[in-house]
Amino acid sequence: MNQLGSEQNPLRVAIVGSGPSAFYATEALIKSGHTVRIDMIERLPAPFGLVRNGVAPDHPKLKQPILIYDKIARSPAFTFLGNVTVGHDIRVAELQSAYHAVIFACGAETDRKLGIAGEDLPGSYTATEFVGWYNGHPDYRDRVFDLSQEVAVIIGQGNVAADVCRILSKTVDELKHTDIAEHALAVLAESKIREVHVIGRRGPAQAKFTNKELRELGELADCGAVVDPADLCLNRESELELADKANFINANNVEIFKTWASRPASGKRRRCYFRFLESPVMLLGQSHLERLVLERNRLEGEPNRQVAKGTGQKRELSCGLLFRSVGYRGVPIPGVPFDERNGVFPNAEGRLLDNNKNVIPTLYVTGWIKRGPSGVIGTNRADSVATVNALLADLPKLDSAAPKAGAEALYPLLTSRGGRVVSYGNWLKIDAVEVERGKPKGKPREKLTTVEEMLAVVA
Ligand code: NAP
Repeated sequence: MNQLGSEQNPLRVAIVGSGPSAFYATEALIKSGHTVRIDMIERLPAPFGLVRNGVAPDHPKLKQPILIYDKIARSPAFTFLGNVTVGHDIRVAELQSAYHAVIFACGAETDRKLGIAGEDLPGSYTATEFVGWYNGHPDYRDRVFDLSQEVAVIIGQGNVAADVCRILSKTVDELKHTDIAEHALAVLAESKIREVHVIGRRGPAQAKFTNKELRELGELADCGAVVDPADLCLNRESELELADKANFINANNVEIFKTWASRPASGKRRRCYFRFLESPVMLLGQSHLERLVLERNRLEGEPNRQVAKGTGQKRELSCGLLFRSVGYRGVPIPGVPFDERNGVFPNAEGRLLDNNKNVIPTLYVTGWIKRGPSGVIGTNRADSVATVNALLADLPKLDSAAPKAGAEALYPLLTSRGGRVVSYGNWLKIDAVEVERGKPKGKPREKLTTVEEMLAVVA
C-alpha cells in the first residue's frame, strides 16, 4: 500500500460543519504538502456557518472571509456536501468507515441557560433565536418577536449583546441596504422600542465588548447611549485590572463609558442604557413577560478573577421583551462524546476523548465546539491549524489497509435515505439568485430563508 497522503493513497478527511473553523482546517490540510481529499458536510444547503448566519448584517466587512473560503472551496481537493445532517442522515460510524479522519467543526449552535424562574416565558428569547431570525437562518425565520413593547432588556455584555442592541436600536434607513432578512426589516420598521437596557452582572471594567463594537453603540442615528456616572466608580481591584496593559480593551471600554456618562442625554428617539453589577434572578408575568427582578451584585476576588456575588438588594424593571445573550453552547451529535458542563466535545489538543479521557482514534475537533465560544473569526485559523497538526502527527496511525472511498461511499447511502445533497456548484446557483434578489433593493443579497426555496433553485 502506498503511503497515506500520497498521490496514490490520498488522505481522505470529512469535516463536519462549514463555518470559519471548517474552512481554516481545509486550508491547513490543503497546504500540508500531503495529497488530500476533503469533504465538507453541512446541515444547511448554504455554507459558511456563523459568517453567513451569525455576523450582523450591518457588519459586511466581517463577512469578507467568505471570499477566502470561496477560493478554498474551488480547490480540486474539496467537495461540499450540503443539506446533510451528521447523526441523522449519516452516522458518525459511517463517516469513520469512509474516511481516514473526521474533524468536527460544528460550532456552538445554542445558548447557555440562565437557570432562573420565568426564563422561558413568552417575551424572553435567546440571542441565538433573534440573530438567526434577522439573518434569515431557516431554523429561526418563523420566530415571532413582539417589538410592540417600549422597553427591551439584553442580559450580557459581550459582542453578541452589542449586535442585538444595534439591530434593535438602528433605524430602518441604517439597515435597509444590508443583507438583513426582509421579514426582519419589516418587523423592525414597526418597532415601538424606546429603551434598551444592556445589563452586565459585573462592572464596566469587566464588560466583554470589543472597543469598536462598543463605540458604535454611541454613534447611532437615532439612539443615544446612556451610562450613570455613579456606575463608573470602580473598586480597587478593577482599577488594578485597568492599570494592567494586557487589559487595554477593558480600559478603552471604560473611557467610552465615561464619555457617554459625561454628555447630556441626547434628544434621540431611542435610548440604550448600560447597567452594571446586576443579575436577573426571576422573570415575572401572567402569560407573557411583564417584569424582570434584578439583584444588585458586588465584585469579589483578586484582580482579573473577580466574580459577581449577589447582595440581596433587589429591584424590578418593567419590560415585555428580553434577550439572553450570555454565551453560546455546542450541541451533541449522536455517537460523539459530549462535555455537558462546558458544552463542547471533550478533546486533548483537538483529539476527541471518550468518557474515560482516552483519545478516540480518527476523530478530531476544532473551533467553538473544541474550545468554547470565544474569540473572533480569525481566532479559528490558529485553532484549526493546531488540530490539523495533531491529525498529521497521527498520520502513521490513520493509515489503514483498506482504502477509503470518501464521498463516493456516502452518496449511495444518502440517496437511499431520500437525501438531496447540495454541491458547491449548487450553492453558487443559490448565491447568484440571492444576489439578484437583493439588487432592486440596493442590498448585497436577499437571502433565501427556507431549505425548500434553496432546493427549488438547484432542482
Ligand atoms: P461573551 O463575549 O462571552 O459575553 C457573554 C456575556 O454574558 C458576558 O458579559 C458574561 O459576563 C455574561 N454572562 C454569562 N453568564 C451570565 C449569567 N449567568 N448571568 C448574567 N450574565 C452572564 O459571549 P458572546 O457575546 O456570546 O460572544 C461570543 C464570542 O463571539 C466572543 O468571543 C465575541 O467577541 C465574538 N463575537 C464577535 C463579534 C465581532 O467581532 N463583531 C460579534 C459577535 C460575537 P461575565 O463576563 O461576567 O462572564
